[in-house]
Amino acid sequence: MDEPQGADSGPDNLLAMPRFAGITTFFRLPHQPSAEGLDVAIAGVPFDGGMTNKNGARHGPRQVREMSHAHIRPFHPTSERSPFRICRAADLGDVPINPINQADSLARIEAFMARIVAAGAKPLSVGGDHLVSLPILRAVARERPVGMVHFDAHSDTYDTVFDDPYDNGTPFRRAIEEGLLAPERTIQIGIRGSQYSADDLTFARQSGIRVVTIDEYFELGNQAVVALARRVVGDGPVYLSFDVDALDPAYAPGTGAPEVGGYSVRDAQVMIRGLRGLDVVGADMVEVAPPLDPLGGTARVGANILFELMDVLAETVL
Ligand code: MN
Ligand code: MN
Repeated sequence: MDEPQGADSGPDNLLAMPRFAGITTFFRLPHQPSAEGLDVAIAGVPFDGGMTNKNGARHGPRQVREMSHAHIRPFHPTSERSPFRICRAADLGDVPINPINQADSLARIEAFMARIVAAGAKPLSVGGDHLVSLPILRAVARERPVGMVHFDAHSDTYDTVFDDPYDNGTPFRRAIEEGLLAPERTIQIGIRGSQYSADDLTFARQSGIRVVTIDEYFELGNQAVVALARRVVGDGPVYLSFDVDALDPAYAPGTGAPEVGGYSVRDAQVMIRGLRGLDVVGADMVEVAPPLDPLGGTARVGANILFELMDVLAETVL
């Protein structure tokens, strides 16, 4: 009998070590310190210094990592392949953020992601609150603006909150101002809930973002929204950002700004699968806040969403 392979058992070797055992990594992938030689580099971004209400997303990466380790088998049920067999992926660990200094944290996140991009890999990040997408985009879109498919209950395009330009309600306004996002190639899906004011949606629409409110989403239907998203982002480079609060809180209650009346996990899975073949340059899944969901179901949902994003990213190397 072969010797057990321990942490090197890998996602495709489920029988070498039970899934409830071993050193925890995303999808039981090997852990490595750099992205050299990788197609996809998965990293945690344990930062929630952009939250203005209920925090806890700094604990997201650890619990999503654990849920992905224990619950996600490698073979994807609809692509009928293991994404880990068609691309080289690894767990790069967590970005060493500075929990008492937001500006320093944003700089550290950008530098970490820039190293991944420089190595020729695509970052798949787990937040953290949604502000982390801004420094990630600063790294991913350094050379040219990118489009974005953005799943969220919120547009995240306020100008300021508490008179501050950097929090989890402002990242995509900053990204447009900084020339990182091409607004006319950006779509937001699932927008709903009470707001501070009309400011965020007014800015989003005037800048050229295609805002799909939850009412329009249910009016059009899932497949029509997927077709619309593909038309909006076109053939150019596109980033995928999934805020877990896009989902109805019945599925994902453990998040800082839950909004009732959202779409289901199933709807989200089908939409992400519908994005296969796009020129996806990176992705993130953010806003899982484990302290707000002691049973861990939100992190389990987050791990499943992460697997869908992983499969879409894997296809880009084919
Ligand atoms: Mn968000
Ligand atoms: Mn949100």
